[in-house]
Parts: sequence; structure tokens; C-alpha cells
Amino acid sequence: MTTATHEETLGFQTEVKQLLHLMINSLYSNREIFLRELISNAADACDKLRYQALDNDALYEGDSELRIEIEHDAKAGTVTVRDNGIGMNRDEAISNLGTIARSGTAEFLQQLSGEQQKDARLIGQFGVGFYSSFIVADEVTVRTRKAGTSTDEAVEWHSKGEGEFTVADIDSERHGTEIILHLKKDAKEFADDYRLKSLVRKYSDHIEVPVRMPNVESDRDEEGKPIEGSEKTVWETVNEATALWVRPKSDISDEEYKGFYKHVAHDFSDPLTWSHNKVEGKLEYTSLLYVPGRAPFDLYERDGARGVKLYVQRVFIMDDADQFLPLYLRFIKGVLDTRELSLNVSREILQQDPKVEKIRSALTKRGLDMLTRLAKNAEAYQTFWNTFGSVLKEGPAEDVANREKIAGLLRFATTHTDSSTQDQSLADYVGRMKEGQEKIYYIVADSFNAAKSSPHLEIFRKKGIEVLLLNDRVDEWLMSHLDEYNGKAFADVAKGDLDLGEVENEEEKKAKEETAKSKEGLVKRVKEVLGELAQEIRVTHRLTDSPACVVLPEHEMGFQMRRIMEAAGQPLPEVRPILELNPEHALVARLESTEGDDFTDLAHVLFDQAIIAEGGHLDDPASYVRRLNTLLTA
Ligand code: ADP
Repeated sequence: MTTATHEETLGFQTEVKQLLHLMINSLYSNREIFLRELISNAADACDKLRYQALDNDALYEGDSELRIEIEHDAKAGTVTVRDNGIGMNRDEAISNLGTIARSGTAEFLQQLSGEQQKDARLIGQFGVGFYSSFIVADEVTVRTRKAGTSTDEAVEWHSKGEGEFTVADIDSERHGTEIILHLKKDAKEFADDYRLKSLVRKYSDHIEVPVRMPNVESDRDEEGKPIEGSEKTVWETVNEATALWVRPKSDISDEEYKGFYKHVAHDFSDPLTWSHNKVEGKLEYTSLLYVPGRAPFDLYERDGARGVKLYVQRVFIMDDADQFLPLYLRFIKGVLDTRELSLNVSREILQQDPKVEKIRSALTKRGLDMLTRLAKNAEAYQTFWNTFGSVLKEGPAEDVANREKIAGLLRFATTHTDSSTQDQSLADYVGRMKEGQEKIYYIVADSFNAAKSSPHLEIFRKKGIEVLLLNDRVDEWLMSHLDEYNGKAFADVAKGDLDLGEVENEEEKKAKEETAKSKEGLVKRVKEVLGELAQEIRVTHRLTDSPACVVLPEHEMGFQMRRIMEAAGQPLPEVRPILELNPEHALVARLESTEGDDFTDLAHVLFDQAIIAEGGHLDDPASYVRRLNTLLTA
């Protein structure tokens, strides 16, 4: 190596500075993960070189035996991680080791509150990668040269992790990257052969690239004693060094599956479950899919990382291949290895290849089956649902073919428990349906409490009919894509005519008709007063405690969806609700016996109250207040 030239000092991007600060505070008790992160990066670098060398063998520079080497020097207090992978040029070193490119990073870091900053799992969910070096090192030197460039195009990057770093041009015979950690005083324990080896086995057994460490061996004399001066370094492969997914399932321990997940998903916590499949025959592929235990910070980012790591015949092709899983399963992480695609596939080709579609539908099925199996464990499934339920709710709209299956995986809050926890399945609901009940009833509102205490539920509570209580933003949209489950249609209790099917007996139906007849006069008078405000006035039996409610025509967009669209500035067709009056209620009886201005005021007040109970906004709230006050002081 010659002396460094063209030295430059640069500042870390703000996000990097924040991350470094957070990491050092929160990951102290997890310090050893730095090795996993560096080996993971080194393995990725080897994968990338192998891929690029497919059509340019010269990139190997005569050294095609990809490997990772770890050395330490207890005296100097250093640990070195070296790979002969793809390496970086000067510009890449500056941007890769000085910035974080993932979108949403700044927001994520800012959102972490003081207490959360100490939570290792939150930072882990972000993935700390290379920067984890600074948990154990107070000085880091990186020497790297991009494969295929000339020996004088190498760079040396150096930093104390305190806000800035330097880069300089150097000469290097070898391509790939070497990272030298100058361990902090209290981290010298890592410069130890036994410690390093056990960490490699613990975290990196599943990495396909061999991780080697040097052993010093000597020739022995006749008595078996080492001969001085005969020492030589023999490299020993410390990890298993075969791709995990290629090995038979029965040979792989849970710990290995979990360790591999952490490498693939850049996550610190264990996955909830996984599914490993080798498929032969018409469509050949091996997949290893995982359900994470926690949501990545960019789950709802438009360009958040999603998809699987794609391999073709064991050769790494690309990260985040998102063509193989639908959007509503974007939380699934894992690996797909297939012979069906050619080694030179690109993202563009993937979009057109009909085989991709076939694999995608196979993996979708695997993903859904994996969730169905997970659902047998109520506690684990609840964790899944609380974390990813709202993503899965996008499923019925996106994937018509698997609607029924997805519906079976949904969980709801219902009047059965009246708890806001979404833990009831449709199968649970159907199992509890009343004799003669034909439909699955639901209500959508802006909040759980609004749903739970909606006047629309009164008759259902009285008759003991269960209703699903929905209040997620996506819920109305979800329900508009679910027609039926198990042959039972869904019915919004706030829309259309109330039809309780066979649950109502003939007598009740007859009584209803008679009341309707006897209230015809009242209905007519209210209609005159309200005019265009309501499209219809009728008496109802769905209420027991409330005097009135508004309902929407059957195929009209619901109140929740209207409010979401309004908030988004979308133009909406005018909709006039139907006002339903409870003939049993004292206020309705009073209305009937009132005349003149009092009648007008009370009719308006009942109508406006019904809108408010629905979470709606009044066009003219001041008039409502005035009318109500007039009635109160009368
Ligand atoms: P991540 O691995 O999650 O992308 P890192 O901070 O660990 O984030 O690394 C940032 C980038 O630096 C990597 O994406 C890669 O491009 C580059 N890099 C890190 N380590 C190496 C290495 N050993 N060889 C080549 N490039 C590397």
C-alpha cells in the first residue's frame, strides 16, 4: 500500500449522526450484533460480485473463491472483517458509508421519543448495518476497491463516528472491502479467537459464503512439541457455509431459521413464523418465507423495502423483488430460489415473464397458508393481527381469487365481547349466528366507541344478534370488497331497509306494518317540514332507546368513506339520508302531538341529532342550537 492522496473530510448526513447517537445508547447490551451486521454486508458484497461476474469473469481478477475473513489482534485491540466481494469506489464509499438512503428515515428517527430511544428493538427494526461498528469501535477504517477497477482506484475511509469521516485514494492489490475496528476500551473482549468464532457460529452459520479465521499451526518435533519458527497460518472455515434454504428442513434448527431471518430481513427480533418449501415438477422453486414479529418502519411508505431476496439457481440476483408477492402480503420477508428464470433477469424482464405470475400465485398461497397455520396459535396470531392486520385488510380488494381465504384470516371487534380488541374471526361469528339469521351484520364508524354505541345497534342488542364493530380507516373499503363468507352475505346495519330475515317472526312483521300505517300522517308532516333534507322519512323498529336515526340507501357510499374522501378533497355526489323515527319513543310521541313552530323545531332537532350520532357534521349548527334552546326554554 502506498500513501494516501486526495484526502477529503466530509460530514455525515444528519440522519447518520442521529442513528450513531441512538445506537450507541440503545444497543449497548446487544453489542455483539456488530459482527453479524458486518458479515451480512460482506456476504451481500460477495453475492453481488458473483452476479456481476456471470457475464464478466474478469471481475474476479483471478480470485473467484469468494470468502469472508475475520482476524483480530489482541495487542492492538482490533478486529478486521475482510471480503473479496464487489467493493466500492470513492463515490460509493462516500454515499454508502456517509448517508442513509432509505426513504422515511428522517421521520422515523425524529419520531422516536426519549424513552423509545433506549429501546433496542426499535432501532433494530430500522436495521443499523455498517454503522453498528461504532457500538464497539471508537475508530473505524475501511479499505475498499471495486472489483474490475485498477489498483490505484482503492479508497480508505476513516472515522471516529463523531460527525465526520475522511476519504483518501490509496493503492490496493486486492478488490473487495476490509473493515478494521479499533475497539473501545470496554470492548476489547471481542479481540478474542474463541469469542469471535462462537459469534460467527451463532449469527452467521447460514451464510453461504465461507467465513474463515486463521489458526496458527507449527510443525512438531519427534516429541510432539511445536518447532519454533515453523509457524504458519492455516485458514479454517468457521461457519456451515451452505445456503440455508438448500439444506433439508429436518437438518435446520429453529435457531438457524431465526438467525437467517435476521440476515434477510435486517431485523433484530425473532420472526413469528416461517414456511420453507421445495417444489419440484412443473414449476421448480424453493422458498423460505417469514412473518416478522414487528412492523418495519417503512411499512406504509410508498417505496418502502418489500419483496423477497431473489436467487436463480443459488446465485443471488436481487434484493426486494416485489413481483413475487401481492402488496397486501408486503410484510412477508424471505428468499426465493428458482430455476425458472434466467440468470440475467432484470426488474423489467420480471414484469413481463409469465412464469413470474405463476410463482407469485404459488407464493401467495404459501403465504396465506402460513398465516392460516399461525392462526391456530391465538396469541401469536393476535400479535400478527395487531401488527399487520390493516395491511391484510387490503387483500380482498387486491386479490379476488383468494378472497374467501383472506376473509377467514381477518379478525374483528364485535358486540359479542364489546371489546375494542380485534380478535374474533368470521368463523367465530358464523358459529354464533342466531337461528334464522342469514346475514353477517356490521357497522362502520370513525371510532370504536362510536360504533359500539351507535343507535343502529339497538335492535340487534335487543335480539341478541351479533354485529361486527369496524372503525379502521380501511374498513368501509374492505367491506365493499367482501360479498360473502361461507355463503353468508354481509350487511351494513346503517344502510338500506332493516331486514332481520327469519329472526323476526310473522307477528312482529305484521305489527310493524300496522304501526307504519298508523304513523303515515306524522311521516307526511315531517316530510313537509324537512323538505329536501331527507330523501325519505319512515318509521323503524331498529331503535329501542333513540328517537331517530339516519340511514343511507343500500348502494350508497357510507359515512366513513365519505368523510375520508372529503378530507382528501375529493368531490362527492350529494347524498340525502333517510330519516327513520322510533314510534315507541316519547319524543316521537311528543312530536306527533305538537304543532306549528314547535313541531318544525323538534323535527329539525331530531334529524340533526341523528346526523350527529352518526358522526356527521351539521350544515348549520347554529340553527340546531337555536332550535334546541327554544324547545328547552318552552
Ligand atoms: P444496508 O446493508 O442495510 O444497505 P449498511 O449501512 O450496512 O446498510 O450499508 C450501506 C451500504 O454500504 C450497503 O448497501 C452497501 O452498498 C455498502 N456496503 C456495506 N458494506 C459493504 C461491503 N463489505 N462491501 C461492499 N459494499 C458494502
